[in-house]
Amino acid sequence: MGSIIIIAPPAAGKGTQSKYISDKYKIPHISTGDLLRDEIHRGTELGIKISKIMKSGSLVSDEIILNVLINKIKNLDSYILDGFPRNIYQAREYERLIHEFHKTIDKVFYIDLPKEKSKERILSRLSCSKCGKVYNTAFEETKPKKANICDDCESKLTERDDDTEEVFEHRYQIYINETKPLLDLYNKEKLLYTINGSLDKMSIFREICSVLEGDK
Ligand SMILES: [Zn+2]
Repeated sequence: MGSIIIIAPPAAGKGTQSKYISDKYKIPHISTGDLLRDEIHRGTELGIKISKIMKSGSLVSDEIILNVLINKIKNLDSYILDGFPRNIYQAREYERLIHEFHKTIDKVFYIDLPKEKSKERILSRLSCSKCGKVYNTAFEETKPKKANICDDCESKLTERDDDTEEVFEHRYQIYINETKPLLDLYNKEKLLYTINGSLDKMSIFREICSVLEGDK
């Protein structure tokens, strides 16, 4: 296996599927968000710079993300990328860089979810104001037992400040403008596999496994 890339709109379960793949095939799950937070946590020179950028509310540049990512993956053979690439520039630079290390992209999964479902899932997220447990009323299995009350500590559930329709529309537009064009790129490279994101998460995972194990 080489690297695996997952492209999906917000709330299509990218993080969940990455974790499932990582657990089953024993390959690292690499989230660029986690890598950036790790740099900050370790207080590296780059971490201090990243922290300033994030605090100012700006986006971390493609160069910084690529830099942090390459450091992490240069000694790995197989891994799953979560949250990367987000745009054509990152995708092209990534291919150029891994080529230098004689690595390849193995497969790219597109978890296809209609905009309305993506929005519904984002706007149905709740978290416990006390213990932080996360719920989602869009799914039976992640609903709290009592409406708006935490199953674990009985505290009140609240919406996250950034889970508003306005923030969703903005994020979704960035996804359409910047991330979705990657589908054409990977389709031309014959790396793309589309999975129906409206299925439940275990069914999505089974589809991914059958592609990875060569049944499709
Ligand atoms: Zn709680």
